[in-house]
Amino acid sequence: MPDPYEPKLTSFSMTPQEQRAVDWALERENSWKVDSLPNEGLSEEEKAFKAAIKGLKQRIKDFHLARQNNCCCYCSLRFQNRTIEQDREHIIPKNKHPELTFSVENLAVACKTCNMSVKKAKTSHLRGFRHGGLRNLNWIGDPCNYNIPHPNVHNWLDHLEYEFRQVGRDAVCHYSAKSTRGRFAYYFFKLDELEIFSNTDGQRGELRSQPLHPTLVELRDAYKQ
Ligand SMILES: [Zn+2]
Repeated sequence: MPDPYEPKLTSFSMTPQEQRAVDWALERENSWKVDSLPNEGLSEEEKAFKAAIKGLKQRIKDFHLARQNNCCCYCSLRFQNRTIEQDREHIIPKNKHPELTFSVENLAVACKTCNMSVKKAKTSHLRGFRHGGLRNLNWIGDPCNYNIPHPNVHNWLDHLEYEFRQVGRDAVCHYSAKSTRGRFAYYFFKLDELEIFSNTDGQRGELRSQPLHPTLVELRDAYKQ
């Protein structure tokens, strides 16, 4: 599959213990959350699996954050902004394809807003998903099968552009779509709601109550054309 980011997906591998832990987790309900199971009732081996899953999830997250340059895979807001919470994101929802729950190709890191408030378990970002399933696992890496820029397969920058400018305490930010997928993502993830001409930090937030800095008024008007 095409892979525009570094480190490459192919460089990620599970240890034999992680692989065994994943097999164990996939046989349980709510596989993704097995690391928060109570220890009560678990065998020593299962406790070790639980710990391995916890470590694996952290490794996957760190890996994707490095690939994404510490930005949300969908809206590209930077995570060092303390108000932005991160979620591990299943591009093909795990409730539709549980076998992809720990697949590094199907995972990325999204901000909580893109993941929980906007995308949820929707499937309209996937082409040909109407019949409820993947034809085969090659489907994951085929760029044609996604209506949005896939966080691991497409280069976000080929599809969308994000500009943020702050002068003093005032800021504006703006998205432009550069492709059909970019346009789809713009509406799907409600990026228009992030286009602040306000004093928020880029979370879908309140409108400002102060007048904008004159430099930013010019910029905003140029964006709006
Ligand atoms: Zn986001």
